[in-house]
Amino acid sequence: MREELYKWKYNMLAIKVADALNKKGHDSYIVKNSKEALEKIIKIIPEGSKVATGGSLTLTKIGLLDVLRNGNYEFLDRYSAKTNEEKEKIEREAFFADYYLCSANAITESGEIALLDGNGNRVAAVIFGPKNVILVTSINKIVKNLEEARERIRYISPMNTKRLNLNTPCVQTGYCVNCSSHQRICNYYTIIESGYRHPGRIKVILVLEELGL
Ligand code: SF4
Repeated sequence: MREELYKWKYNMLAIKVADALNKKGHDSYIVKNSKEALEKIIKIIPEGSKVATGGSLTLTKIGLLDVLRNGNYEFLDRYSAKTNEEKEKIEREAFFADYYLCSANAITESGEIALLDGNGNRVAAVIFGPKNVILVTSINKIVKNLEEARERIRYISPMNTKRLNLNTPCVQTGYCVNCSSHQRICNYYTIIESGYRHPGRIKVILVLEELGL
């Protein structure tokens, strides 16, 4: 019963957010789980496309990287880079991909999309990179408003530094101390207010299960 009620609640919330995103000029889709998210992405991206991704636990979790590596795509695989220089080169090439995929850090109930980056490559690509952007975002990233978005990101960022094995103070404390570490991942906080200039360029896939942080 409890599970059913949460499913219902998540679905109602996703409908509200999808409607808000559509009204802001984005295209949005609601899918039940990782499997459906992957199927939707495969349906959207034509075979033969040049595809790039930003760092994302969600994309790994739904199995997208394996599909891109093994399918009929020209995949700009930043994870295949052996050096930082090589990785940066791939991240720059990503601007010329046909499709760019990553996740959002938070989406408000009014359809504002919040992203936080350490290097800025991901936010830059989402804002002014490939002609098509797909944000795969799980339901746990929906927040009431921008204040909650900021709070959520501040809460989860230490887990990301831990995951990435970085040497930041929050790895020791478990909470943010607003550090000045050169490995700080909280450098470029960006809000996408709307997509009216380029309707449909950003597609948001809302997944009704908890995936990324
Ligand atoms: S600002 Fe520094 S301490 Fe705070 S979460 Fe980001 S990396 Fe960690």
